[in-house]
Amino acid sequence: MAQVSETKGLILFSRDYKEKDKLIKIFTESAGKVMFFAKGIHRPNNPLRPAIMPFTEAVYIGNLKEDGLSFLNSAKEVHPLRKLQEDIFLNAYGSYILGLVDAAIDDHVYDPALYSFTKQALELMDQGYDGETILNIFELQIMQRFGVALNWRACSICGKTTGAFDFSSKYSGILCQDHWHMDEHRYHADPRSIYFIRMFSTISYDKISSVNLKTETKQAIRKTIDQLYEEYVGLHLKSKRFIDQMGEWQNMLKPVDPDNDLK
Ligand SMILES: [Zn+2]
Repeated sequence: MAQVSETKGLILFSRDYKEKDKLIKIFTESAGKVMFFAKGIHRPNNPLRPAIMPFTEAVYIGNLKEDGLSFLNSAKEVHPLRKLQEDIFLNAYGSYILGLVDAAIDDHVYDPALYSFTKQALELMDQGYDGETILNIFELQIMQRFGVALNWRACSICGKTTGAFDFSSKYSGILCQDHWHMDEHRYHADPRSIYFIRMFSTISYDKISSVNLKTETKQAIRKTIDQLYEEYVGLHLKSKRFIDQMGEWQNMLKPVDPDNDLK
């Protein structure tokens, strides 16, 4: 069964198919992730070309099938996220977000909540909000789609909600300082990272402007989220490896602090 329909969508990725055609995976608002076939897309005057660029949202029109390939005919209201297309760092964070979306849900699963969450994350990056923070929030909240539910709300033993916390795999949640002795294999994470991970696990993107983190805090959060992903999600996406390498370049490219030179 195929029917001509239109739906909002975000480009996940595309790849060449034979000489003139392309396969394009789109996260649609109304039908989940769908693989489309687009014919003759390599012709320079094909009007679909701008609509299938990475980091583009548009209304896509085509024959949508439940299984097998759907056909993409045209697009309208094409909205490119220019900063993500042009900035190498934002491009990397955005690619990882889309990689997580692609891994987290099966094709043809209707998930409008994840669609708007993804769209909001990418748009905020495009508007100049901090890419790392937006990515961290995304990583923590999408864990649910991988079937991971962790207790960030209160100490798993006594229910305390304030003070310093650490994460414990044994309790699938946090422990307050009084109960750190209950798990000697707890993460031994920087308490600042747990503080922000607790906040990020429930924060709405509307509140993102109030978050402004120091580099060391960001590094601590990155380290703890990596540990959580290694243990609970176990994905090894190419886009994430690229982000790890970027961290190393950033250090290399840092200008020498002139004050240090005088000491
Ligand atoms: Zn406790």
